Amino acid sequence: MRIEGRCHCGYITYEAEIDPEAVGVCHCTDCQSLTGSAFSVFVPASRESFRLLTGQPNIYVKTAESGTKRAQAFCPECGSRIYAAAATDPQTFNIRVGTVVQRATLWPKKQVWCRSILPWITNLSSITQIPTQ
Ligand SMILES: [Zn+2]
Ligand SMILES: [Zn+2]
Repeated sequence: MRIEGRCHCGYITYEAEIDPEAVGVCHCTDCQSLTGSAFSVFVPASRESFRLLTGQPNIYVKTAESGTKRAQAFCPECGSRIYAAAATDPQTFNIRVGTVVQRATLWPKKQVWCRSILPWITNLSSITQIPTQ
């Protein structure tokens, strides 16, 4: 499926082709601190299909426990995370689904790094829900 994306401020826009069955949630502690939130939602896009339309992201290279270096791309203006990819010669861009225009239609099909899942997440639907702030 074809998707379009943009950061919060609109400086970065992109398009890509993705498989909706490949959407996932990552509960790793790096994603928690990098997002400032509980988890990240990602969907891979091949290098051939991912196209930046406007803007140029800044790159932060994180080194994982395993030693693997991953480039974390974010908007230099508003800080929105756009994708993560291999630090050198990336073949795949793991798009951050929160920047995808069609995100409401993308349901995660798997969760990874569940050993560091925040314990309340499994009960999210039981927490009081308010339509706006
Ligand atoms: Zn931005
Ligand atoms: Zn993660």
